[in-house]
Parts: sequence; structure tokens; C-alpha cells
Amino acid sequence: EWTDPAEMLEEVADRFAFQLQQRHIRIRQKVETRLKPVLVDRDKIDQVLDNLVSNSVKYTGDGGWIELTARVKDEKWLQVTVEDNGVGIPKKDLERIFERFYRVDKARSRNMGGTGLGLSIAREIIKAHGGTISLDSEYNKGTKVTFTLPYSPQEGSEPA
Ligand code: ATP
Ligand code: MG
Repeated sequence: EWTDPAEMLEEVADRFAFQLQQRHIRIRQKVETRLKPVLVDRDKIDQVLDNLVSNSVKYTGDGGWIELTARVKDEKWLQVTVEDNGVGIPKKDLERIFERFYRVDKARSRNMGGTGLGLSIAREIIKAHGGTISLDSEYNKGTKVTFTLPYSPQEGSEPA
């Protein structure tokens, strides 16, 4: 369905408001003005955003921050980022992070719950929309996930 990017980010922030408040994590949105609506399977993109924000909440210390941004890239892509200043991911793990069931360091992940499927599902969903997703991270500094969605989905890609 046609989705306003600003509203979509506002709503994911709202869904995590209670948890964020409990953990004293601030969340802010930076959205380019007058972004056009984008045609997406909204439930699926919400699933992606929920996973990314829940990862940031899990791996960011109390008092940290999460930033959500949306802007137009090269005129035909909506680019969304989810960034945190949490524990980050060691370089050696970065290339495997989108694999199913892959989780960094069982010890740190043990108490966090989850199965290690979130990012692989996110990648499937973004690919199905004709977009791309990538993750940048620096250990002990933070993590930034960037995904794009086409403003004019090709035939055959979801949600068409
Ligand atoms: P699930 O999403 O299935 O509940 P999960 O969150 O462990 O489980 P993914 O979302 O696929 O799985 O993430 C894989 C792993 O990548 C995580 O276990 C964690 O080690 C690491 N990771 C993901 N996002 C972050 C982040 N923002 N900061 C630090 N580490 C992260
Ligand atoms: Mg996850």
C-alpha cells in the first residue's frame, strides 16, 4: 500500500516507546521534508523496521540513542537508516551477519532472546521489494543499517 515514510518511522518509534523509556534510550527521526509516499507491503516493511529497532534496543546500553532517517537517494530510491550507538559488531562477524541463525558471540546474545533470523528475513523482504540492505558497524561504537526501496517497483517484485 501507499505509505508515507515519515509516518512509518513515527509509528515504529511509537511501538517501542515503552521499552525505550524503560531503558532510557532516546530515539529521534530525521526525515527529509516532502518525501513522496512509497508503494510497499506495509506489514513486511514494518516487520523489517521492528527487527532493526529491536536489535538496536537489545544491543544499546541504557542512556544510548537510536536514530531513524529517511531520504531520497538518486531520485528513485527511498533510503532508510536505523543507527544506534550500541555495542557494535566485530569486523570478523560482519560478513556473516545476514546468514540465517547467525548471532555474534553466544555469550552476549544468550540473554537477549531471538533466533538469529531477523536480519536474514529483513534481507529477503527488502530483496522482494527490489531494494537493497546493508549493515555497517564498529565494535564498541555502534551500528547502522541502511535499506533502500524503489519508488517505481518493477513488475514481479512485491507488492506490485
Ligand atoms: P531475531 O531477530 O530472530 O529475534 P537476533 O536479533 O539475534 O534474533 P538478527 O536480527 O538476525 O537476529 O541479528 C543477528 C545478530 O546480529 C544478533 O544476534 C546480534 O549479535 C547482531 N546484531 C544485529 N543488530 C545489531 C545491532 N544493532 N548492534 C549490535 N549487534 C547487532
Ligand atoms: Mg533481531
